[in-house]
Amino acid sequence: MLPITIGRNPSIHLCTYMLSRYYTYSQFESYFSTLIRRFKIESLEEIEIGKSVLGKSIYGLKLGTGSTKILAWSQMHGNESTTTRALCQLLESVDIENNLNSFKLYIIPILNPDGAESWTRVNANNVDLNRDAMDLSQPESTILRKVINDYQPDYCLNLHGQRTIYGSLDGKSPVQMSFLAPAGDKDRKITEVRLKSMNVINHIYSQLKNKVNGIIGRYDDAFNINCVGDYLTSVHIPTILFEAGHSGSDYSRDEVTYLVHDSLVVALNTINDGISQKNTTLRSYEDIPAIASNFTDVLIKNYPSKNGFTSLYIQYHEQINANKLYFVPILIGLNRKDILNAHEVIDLSDVSTFENDLVIDENLEVYSESLNIKIFTN
Ligand SMILES: [Zn+2]
Repeated sequence: MLPITIGRNPSIHLCTYMLSRYYTYSQFESYFSTLIRRFKIESLEEIEIGKSVLGKSIYGLKLGTGSTKILAWSQMHGNESTTTRALCQLLESVDIENNLNSFKLYIIPILNPDGAESWTRVNANNVDLNRDAMDLSQPESTILRKVINDYQPDYCLNLHGQRTIYGSLDGKSPVQMSFLAPAGDKDRKITEVRLKSMNVINHIYSQLKNKVNGIIGRYDDAFNINCVGDYLTSVHIPTILFEAGHSGSDYSRDEVTYLVHDSLVVALNTINDGISQKNTTLRSYEDIPAIASNFTDVLIKNYPSKNGFTSLYIQYHEQINANKLYFVPILIGLNRKDILNAHEVIDLSDVSTFENDLVIDENLEVYSESLNIKIFTN
């Protein structure tokens, strides 16, 4: 059994110092080359499994000696670094070698290095790798498929990060993490394979639901065979989609990185224990709250305007400049009915001394000194 919750002492994690929300690929490589020496691997060349479109090395790390085989990959979407950092925490915090005698773990920490560097969802050919499972038009997709074919995993962990737009259906709570047992066909049939994925998710949910800021949610299971998880379910490999979400002011995503780490530990323990498919699985899974895109970053209520009072909806757009990630506040609408809540709500009827210094420029960028709305970096 791997120990869950390793204590929130960042000093034990080299990755906390070396990997912030954004890192260049060479920053990642210098961190990772230090880390892999712990596993008696001398150099990154030994674990290179292929090259990206722009010729960056993609790495695969195999650990453990057991019989159950687990494959985990992260950052197939380049601008979703949280789950990569959680995988690194896992490799640092858990005595993997002495615990991994009942399963094997294969980790691909960054499947899309070009997107990771440019902070884009897509790869360098502008292709979403999570819509390329059938076409295999990209080298990164081919590399993942080859690993799957050669390694023959019993379980796959498909690790992602999500935007700040998700909330509970009633809009009251942000979604700090969400999970999905993907469908394997358009009728979304509940198969033995899906029940296995659901069972792992149920364990994560029951062990962590009271430790989150906001909720742990259940992602929509609409079927698309070009999504890797849907494809894998269709060929009978249980796959669990992890989505690291957002709550409060966690724009560094440091808090949620710990939560993803703990989710990974629960997933590994659950698989390690030989999960059983009780007939409560589906019901428990359906009890996990569904999510909706009904949040934004900042909501200003009761802003005085010609026609009375207006609500302003602001979203931070992420931009890389000189190897730093900036969050730029952009006005995305007025009086929107579809957005129910925000990570920061400013109600001007509660602000006694609001001097109207709000400026919206021609790019819809919003600034206000008095409301502390400005570009920031992490
Ligand atoms: Zn993603």
